[in-house]
Amino acid sequence: MPMPTQLPVTWVSAGHGVPTVCARHGQPGTLRARTEFESAPAGWSYAFIPLGLLVFVLIRAATRKRIDAPVWYYCDSCRSMRRIRRLAWGVPAVLGAGLLVYALVEDPANPDPWLFISGALAGIAGYVGLLTTSLAAIARGRVSRDGQWIVVRRPDPAFAAAVEAALDHARSHPPVLPPPTRTHEQAAREIFGRTMG
Ligand SMILES: [Zn+2]
Repeated sequence: MPMPTQLPVTWVSAGHGVPTVCARHGQPGTLRARTEFESAPAGWSYAFIPLGLLVFVLIRAATRKRIDAPVWYYCDSCRSMRRIRRLAWGVPAVLGAGLLVYALVEDPANPDPWLFISGALAGIAGYVGLLTTSLAAIARGRVSRDGQWIVVRRPDPAFAAAVEAALDHARSHPPVLPPPTRTHEQAAREIFGRTMG
């Protein structure tokens, strides 16, 4: 199994050094999309599940880190995978919600427990499945716990190589600051000299 590849968050949020091949298949990107990456839930947050799913969800939301990538590339296979997953999970989500509503409308005081439970289960399964259709899930990218890296799990070798090449380039060509062309004093004199005559 290939090692995860990681890109500095500063690059990703500036749209710098992001390979133009997709992370999952290594094919040329045909969709360029803004993607929101999130950190995986901290291990200790699972200890709160016994207190209730809502507590867990709230703790997750409060402790997660989000990084907005203005550009990330997806190939045709990524796009069809996303469409198929949306359909496959969207159908149970909608049917489940429909069953729940039907059970409640038919007999609000005493809804049929079988309709109610099967509706709730299908709805939850569909909802959880729909989480795998996010762009970040298709890219298999997550923010590292320290918030410094976008970690791509099981990247295609072409994607990993492109990231490695960009990192290598940055290491061998450290940014060179242009020499100052004029001092602040000169700049100030220029501005004030012009406005004040
Ligand atoms: Zn792809």
